[in-house]
Order: sequence, then C-alpha cells, then structure tokens
Amino acid sequence: MKALVKEGPGEGLDLRDVSEPEIGPDDVLIKVHKTGICGTDIHIWNWDAWAARTVPTPLVTGHEFAGEIVALGRDVTDLHVGQRVSGEGHLIGKTSRQSRSGRFHLDPETRGIGVNEPGSFAEYLRLPAFNAVPLPDTIDDEIGAILDPLGNAVHTALSFDLIGEDVLITGAGPIGIMAAAVARHVGARHVVITDVNPLRLDLAAQVADVTPVNVATEDLKDVMSRLHMVQGFDVGLEMSGSQAALDQMVESLVMGGRIALLGIPPGKSPVDWSRIVLKALTIKGVYGREIFETWYKMIAMLENGLDVRKVITHRFKAADYRQGFEAMLSGQSGKVVLDWT
Ligand code: ZN
Repeated sequence: MKALVKEGPGEGLDLRDVSEPEIGPDDVLIKVHKTGICGTDIHIWNWDAWAARTVPTPLVTGHEFAGEIVALGRDVTDLHVGQRVSGEGHLIGKTSRQSRSGRFHLDPETRGIGVNEPGSFAEYLRLPAFNAVPLPDTIDDEIGAILDPLGNAVHTALSFDLIGEDVLITGAGPIGIMAAAVARHVGARHVVITDVNPLRLDLAAQVADVTPVNVATEDLKDVMSRLHMVQGFDVGLEMSGSQAALDQMVESLVMGGRIALLGIPPGKSPVDWSRIVLKALTIKGVYGREIFETWYKMIAMLENGLDVRKVITHRFKAADYRQGFEAMLSGQSGKVVLDWT
C-alpha cells in the first residue's frame, strides 16, 4: 500500500509502498479515506528537536483520519465491516492508576499513532477496536478527518462553563478558530480571538460569529471597552504558545478568571506568577481529548448545528501531499485535508 513515510533524520516525507498492517485479535483494519495534516506533522516534516527525540524511523506518519472498517480482529464483536469510523489516535495502556480509574486521556503510557506507532497517512491503518469511533451519516469523511483537532478545541473550550461568559482566545490557528465556534455554540456572550496573522483572523470570522483582533495593529483594551466589558474576560483559552499572548491574557482577565492552556510554548518562558496569584486565576493544562467524553460531546454538537467546515481551506489528493505541506508551512492556511481514495 501507499503511505507517507518518515525515512530517517532530515526534512520532508516520502510517499512509497509499504506492507499493509497486520491486525491482532482486538484490532480493526481501516481503509483510510481522508486525513488532516496537523501541526505535529509539520514538526515531523521539519524534523525539529522534538521530532528527533520522539519519532522512530522509518515510520508511517499521520493521526487525523476518517475511513471505513475492512477487517475485524477475531475478538471484535461490537463493530462491523463497512462501518465508517474516525478514531482516537492515542493508544493507551491498561495498567496505570489513571487508566484503571477510567481517566484514559491521563494515562502516562499513551503512545500516538503517526508519532510513536504507524499512522494514518496510508491506504490502510491498524487501530485497536477500542479506539475506533463510529461516524453517523451526518458527519462526512472530510469532517471525520478533523475530529482529532476539533476534539482538542472541544476539550479546551469545555474546560470551564462558558454560558454567558466573555471568552478570549489567543491564537487563530485551526484549533483556536474551532474553539471559538464551540464557545459560541455553547452560549458564550462575547468571543474575541487574537492573532497577528490577518488571513487567519479573516478565516475565524468566516467560521464563527466572533470578534477577530489583530494585536499587532489594534489595542485589545479598545475592543473590550467597545464590547462593554467592565472588568475583563471571564475565561481565556490559550492556543498560540506565545509568551506575549499569555501575558496579555493574564492582563485582560477578571479577578478569579480561568485559563485553559493548549498552546505549547517553545522551551521555558518567564511568567508573571505574582500577577496570577493576586488575580486569583485558575490555570488548567489541556492534553488531547477526554476518551471518549470529548468525542461524544463533539459528535452531538456537530449533529446539532456546530459547523466548522470552513476551517478546511485546502484539499489535495494524497499523491499531491507536497502541496498540502507547503500550504501548512506557508502559515496561510486553515486545515489541509488529503484524499486517499
Ligand atoms: Zn493533530
């Protein structure tokens, strides 16, 4: 089968023939229809310090996918051949305290498809049946292929009660934009999203009813007073990993405000802790998706009017994957989806 493989140290990925994955008794074999390119895949493409330390080579990359089950392991009874699925790419262990108490997303032994294990940039994917998530007919393959990052957005946005709250989202990448759409969907009052990239701010305004703010040219304080925010934002969702964005978020929150952090700063960064203590802020780190609560809520919201399709700005055949990665590397894209059919 064809797959996008990281052959060894260095930049890029190669599309080449590899053998089809073999499945065990508890696995399913999925014929991949569509895949999303993630920021993680860009780290692997670029072969930065994180990738060099984390990713074994050669490896089939990719972890955002939708497809169809074509074979079942002999012990799989609750799924069927022909079923359309997406799936959780975090493969969890069963021995840690967190796993055994049902908090699967906190299992420290988690291994990721396309990062530690063979991934979904391929015609076929082996996945534990436990990780497969059946797709209703109302969710097509293209949306199915971006449920992983939408799940990050949903997990982050639902970290705190947003009903009637003023929400600040820093970072208008695809996940920030989708988090804005989720915040709006669940009933936030004002949703403001900041970035310094005009294209991404335009895209945010197309996807959701939000106020985009270019912090390179606009003063966030002016926007807040225009929206009649007396004290500040109630909730902050940090999606950029930028030190300046986090500083501005801390500055713009109300006393007792709450922050969910999904963005990953590059290395250590200075944080004004006294400001955080004296403002009595709550900070929560967010990792992955809650397995499978986030999936349940996300699919329910999609079936109930949440629309994030416009966040997909580029679509390519898998054979043209280089154009997809170029679009991602340009910084001038939303989600990029590859077609494997
Ligand atoms: Zn991803």
